[in-house]
Amino acid sequence: MKAKTKFGLRPRPNISIEHAVVEAPVVTPAPATMGPVRRSVLQEPVLVLNATYEPINVTAVRRALVLMLKGVAQAEEINHSEVHSAQQTMKVPSVIRLLAYRLIPQQSRALSRKNILLRDKNTCQFCGRTLPASELTLDHVVPRSRGGRSSWENLVACCYECNNRKGDRTPEEAGLRLVRRPRPFTLHTSRQLMRLIGRQEEKWRKYLFY
Ligand SMILES: [Zn+2]
Repeated sequence: MKAKTKFGLRPRPNISIEHAVVEAPVVTPAPATMGPVRRSVLQEPVLVLNATYEPINVTAVRRALVLMLKGVAQAEEINHSEVHSAQQTMKVPSVIRLLAYRLIPQQSRALSRKNILLRDKNTCQFCGRTLPASELTLDHVVPRSRGGRSSWENLVACCYECNNRKGDRTPEEAGLRLVRRPRPFTLHTSRQLMRLIGRQEEKWRKYLFY
């Protein structure tokens, strides 16, 4: 069944939500102090802990609520807001914990532009300049035309200038040097990414910094 829930979520293979029965939430308006450009509460990040309290992922409030409604997870830390459905009001979680232990495959972390930029701290890996995300692209160190893969080990943050200069060549051929070799995805990378995403989240600290 490919049906979406009323939250508009697509089930992922590891945690199916096809049986989740939830009402479309009405988001409580954000307090004026939070400013007009604040994103929807449902899109705010939620830290996901394994049953052992080990931090394993970051998800959005929307998905965290589905996991809670399904009885898969419970809230460990609560946020400032509430969401309402016809039947109930739920406090928005900041940290949730899975009730059953889940074995997490190490490579399961999404290989995305956002995650590569986070790993490389928005720094062009050829000229070393730190730039806004909009001024960075991803570069295949070994070009795809030479069989270079789209992997954590072969993708780096790169400014447009260096990207143009490099073109379809290897760094050596283009006379460029990597600031550092792109690190593969490890538990360390995972923690680093979660800490970066959660650097504004006071309530995540005790789970991520120890
Ligand atoms: Zn550059």
